[in-house]
Amino acid sequence: MENILNSKLNKGLAYSTEERQRLGIHGLLPPCVQTQEAQEHLVLENLHRIKEDIDKYTYLMHLLDRNERLFYKVLSSHVEEIMPLVYTPTVGEACIKYGFIFNQPKGMFITIKDKGHIYDVLSNWPCQNVKVICVTDGERILGLGDLGAQGMGIPVGKLALYTALAGVNPSQCLPITLDVGTNNQAYLNDPNYIGLKQKRVTGKEYDDFIEEFITCVKKRFGSTCLIQFEDFHNTNAFRLLEKYRDTACTFNDDIQGTASVALSGLLTAVKMTKVELKDCVFLFYGAGEAAIGTANLIALAMSEKGISEEQAREKIWLFDSKGLVVKNRPEGGINHEKAPYAKDAKPIKVLSDAVDFVKPTAIIGAAAQGRQFTEEIIKKMSKLNKRPIIFALSNPTSKAECTAEEAYGHSEGQAVFASGSPFKKVDFKGRTFHPGQGNNCYIFPAVGLAAVAADLKHIPEKFFLIAAESLSNQVTSEELEEGRVYPKLNRIQEVSFKIAVDLVKYALDNGLSNLYPKPKSVESLVKEAIYDTKQINKNSHVIIAQLGSVNKF
Ligand code: NAP
Ligand code: MN
Repeated sequence: MENILNSKLNKGLAYSTEERQRLGIHGLLPPCVQTQEAQEHLVLENLHRIKEDIDKYTYLMHLLDRNERLFYKVLSSHVEEIMPLVYTPTVGEACIKYGFIFNQPKGMFITIKDKGHIYDVLSNWPCQNVKVICVTDGERILGLGDLGAQGMGIPVGKLALYTALAGVNPSQCLPITLDVGTNNQAYLNDPNYIGLKQKRVTGKEYDDFIEEFITCVKKRFGSTCLIQFEDFHNTNAFRLLEKYRDTACTFNDDIQGTASVALSGLLTAVKMTKVELKDCVFLFYGAGEAAIGTANLIALAMSEKGISEEQAREKIWLFDSKGLVVKNRPEGGINHEKAPYAKDAKPIKVLSDAVDFVKPTAIIGAAAQGRQFTEEIIKKMSKLNKRPIIFALSNPTSKAECTAEEAYGHSEGQAVFASGSPFKKVDFKGRTFHPGQGNNCYIFPAVGLAAVAADLKHIPEKFFLIAAESLSNQVTSEELEEGRVYPKLNRIQEVSFKIAVDLVKYALDNGLSNLYPKPKSVESLVKEAIYDTKQINKNSHVIIAQLGSVNKF
């Protein structure tokens, strides 16, 4: 019976008659023996019957609670359809309603009240061999703001993608929410809110708590356990990344993953526009985690093409809530991260005027303001450039700086366009354009797989450059023809695999891996780390042995 109740072992109706007898579960299941393919088909039929996306989410999470392997089989085989249900946009609604949805534990809640005991709390997690942690403090969930402990949907969803898109073993993944309180007054008043009912702690108390968390993760799961920061407020995100990047195996996906996928899109875009990267001028609309992360990586990429990082930063302009980021502007607001990009120029408050002044090759939107790349701006970009690069990265769709239709339409089909949220293909004057979706999911699962396969000590900035190049190099000529700046999503597993291989090769050559001796074949090394979603038709003790890392589950 235990076998059926354990989601890591349960096969539902796929147990053979012989297995049912041996495991003592004969009679507990209807007599029909199903293949995993038949089960997959049933899951899809059920999903199609359900009307609301949030109900589809709940159904899929129940499937995960019941039959983990089947969940991952379905998700990995139908990425385009199911990823938006377990991650953005549906996961946003799921977080808002997390109090109603919470069912089986899928991760850990560590609260500020656990301070001094974080190691003991981590020890309660039933899997011993954790290799990838995705952690949030819930302060900036997607574009939804402070959702406190209900942000848990994010690390759960993100780690599901590590498995489905790159094959990281789910037993090695641990979603964590650090609950330091919430400043969301509606939640503090809400009896159904599932987190601590107190205002956020900040300052030294917050920093000490994070420090204890990092130390205890290393002690509990080893210093090569990857800690991916997710959806922290940008005042903490940049700081914590700087603080821990050289002392832990860590990265921030909102800053670095976004940067990598955006840079990759740009590397592909310049293949289409035939303007060299080092000759491009970039204007960012927004100067937060996404924009500055991308700006920093572009500067690194340009500096590898023969100009200094300083010269590169001269070609990158930022525009934030106070206007163009220039030195000594009266409104101020230029923090440590923006400062390297602040120019000696006059202040400009209107984006369209900034386009006239900067004359960018590419405009990249990441300000979450929605529809700010107007017809006027797109037309100006088309006058300045034969093929303007227009990336509208803000999520969700309602916040995108322009739609795909607007980008192609107002540029007479000349724009190279990518967006953060998905847009359908656009037919314009007899041509069909496929907008690229600059989704971080092209990057972070591969980084995770590389970290697990090669037992990495650190995640250097260079990784995100290599990942961007690897991803861009995998766009086929057919895909380029269709205007795609990213590979099709339906081949993301092979794409992630190749990125992971490229990352591991770099890691081995640069002393970032603990593996000794060096593996003969990096491809085999990475392949061996990959989780198999196929049903195992062996004795249950063999299954348990294969799960190795699983303890109490
Ligand atoms: P963030 O750190 O909060 O930064 C937001 C930036 O927008 C800030 O610099 C802010 O200016 C600026 N801003 C706000 N209002 C503005 C206005 N009216 N005019 C000009 N700038 C304005 O947020 P983030 O993490 O960078 O995320 C920003 C957006 O990017 C979100 O919509 C997010 O969903 C999206 N994103 C997309 C991807 C992707 O496509 N793969 C990845 C990550 C994020 P101040 O600095 O002056 O406050
Ligand atoms: Mn995020």
